[in-house]
Amino acid sequence: MNNKKRWWVPILNRTLNFVFTSFCPICEGKVFKDGYSYVCQECLDTLAWVRGTSCKLCGIPMSGMDFSGLSCASCREENLLFDRGKCLFVMEDQAKSLIHDIKYHGARMILRDMTSWLDRSPGFREYLEGTVLIPVPLHRRRLGKRGFNQSEWIAHSFRKAVGPSVEVMDILKRKKNTPTQTELDRSERKVNVKNAFALKRRNRLRKEDRIMLIDDVFTTGATLNACAQVLRDHGFKRINIATLGHG
Ligand SMILES: [Zn+2]
Ligand SMILES: [Zn+2]
Repeated sequence: MNNKKRWWVPILNRTLNFVFTSFCPICEGKVFKDGYSYVCQECLDTLAWVRGTSCKLCGIPMSGMDFSGLSCASCREENLLFDRGKCLFVMEDQAKSLIHDIKYHGARMILRDMTSWLDRSPGFREYLEGTVLIPVPLHRRRLGKRGFNQSEWIAHSFRKAVGPSVEVMDILKRKKNTPTQTELDRSERKVNVKNAFALKRRNRLRKEDRIMLIDDVFTTGATLNACAQVLRDHGFKRINIATLGHG
């Protein structure tokens, strides 16, 4: 991958959104849009898509001796409060670059490729069907600064790609403006997001709904778990999670 990415590429892509060519956010080569192709097919092929057996809680592919039963060593260290988890790809360099463009450059159009992304990870579409997608919220101050919540964008792109059996409900709020988890270790992450979330008073969620918490990346699961805790405290029982990346 080209490490010296040109800073203006995502900005130009945003401008070129309405014409027929754009630049692949990974290799920066020209892409001719044919419905869904913001990332060129060659680059999409290089992403570490999750296929086959994976950890039932975080979705990372099963390999080696790290797995006991159905979950990975990392998930077994946590007291995870959701029942299942899936991710689309493992966060290698190309995937990092994609998530970065979405999160920090507001390149939402990358998510329009979602239909072809779901095709690359067997079972993912079925996993989302019939669920209520709840994006992990940003604190209103961070939302004000960034201007958008990428998890909400991801949830809507899932809904569009899967169809009307899926619904998005933005019903969690972040009470504490916690620092970013990036630099924190496992236990610090847990403390950082403890009691950070709450359920909005007005919501249409029913106890029997199948909830799917949505975030961009699964790292230790601390943030998603803090959200699941809130929902469990309110008596919701069917809680799963889904993310784009793992790592
Ligand atoms: Zn490319
Ligand atoms: Zn796991």
